[in-house]
Amino acid sequence: MATSGTPDPRPEFDTSQPTIARVYDALLGGKDNFAADREGAALYLKYVPDAGRCAIENRQALVKGVQYLARQAGIDQFLDIGSGLPTQKNTHEAAQEVNPDAKVAYVDNDPIVLAHGRALLATNNSTIVVTSDLRRPQEILENEEIRNHLDFSRPIALMVVGIHMHFHDDEKPDEWVRTLMNALAPGSYLFITDFVDTGEPLQKGMERAGLESLGNGWIRTPERIEQHFLGMPLVPPGLDFLARWFPEDPDADVPAVEELQPWQRILMAGIAKKA
Ligand code: SAM
Repeated sequence: MATSGTPDPRPEFDTSQPTIARVYDALLGGKDNFAADREGAALYLKYVPDAGRCAIENRQALVKGVQYLARQAGIDQFLDIGSGLPTQKNTHEAAQEVNPDAKVAYVDNDPIVLAHGRALLATNNSTIVVTSDLRRPQEILENEEIRNHLDFSRPIALMVVGIHMHFHDDEKPDEWVRTLMNALAPGSYLFITDFVDTGEPLQKGMERAGLESLGNGWIRTPERIEQHFLGMPLVPPGLDFLARWFPEDPDADVPAVEELQPWQRILMAGIAKKA
């Protein structure tokens, strides 16, 4: 494995403030977090007692999406932005379980992800970790390590999973993703999960927890989330709540929306294909 990044590869972490990656790790039951992050996670649990289950279900959706992309869609290159701290099953493990030759480039702006990725990937030559920022898509595209690792003349799955909620619409996150998608070959895919707003109090609770703990974590209507896909057609079953979303088996017997627990109506997933 190789690693790179603009910040010092051995950064001094500020542990006094919660970070998105470490709060999420705490919600997933991980150990790579500090007191401030656990306090942030506690706020989530205060407003959404099942926030940990939401995080776990998001990881399960990540695996479902990656395995659909590797198996059914035949994708063997993944650019995973906002990849998060390593946890139980990561993108490279999910993809390489289907195709051992699949290549993965992880990008996260929190340098702790690089530090932990280095240890996890010490023996994996098909996977790299880079510190960079979705807000600077051109920097990601020009990153030498990413360009040496992924072949941009062939389809790539761009993963922006569990990260849109951390940007306000005023920042125009869709434009960053558009810059990235424009650089990808026809036949590439875009995989997104995001917090949804269908008017339920628990969804609003998730937003409140994010704003109080991290200063971000907005919810969006399904119509607004659809716009993240930049007009590209979604593969079946389209955009749906995670517990109803099975891209590998879109005809699966799934519970009705009303049958889901309220905490299961907080996140939606979708995958679109670039023509
Ligand atoms: N994608 C993983 C998943 O769905 O399980 C992790 C999601 S976690 C909630 C969001 C991740 O996005 C964190 O690791 C955080 O550090 C990262 N992140 C936040 N803002 C970012 C940015 N501007 N550029 C790159 N990564 C960012």
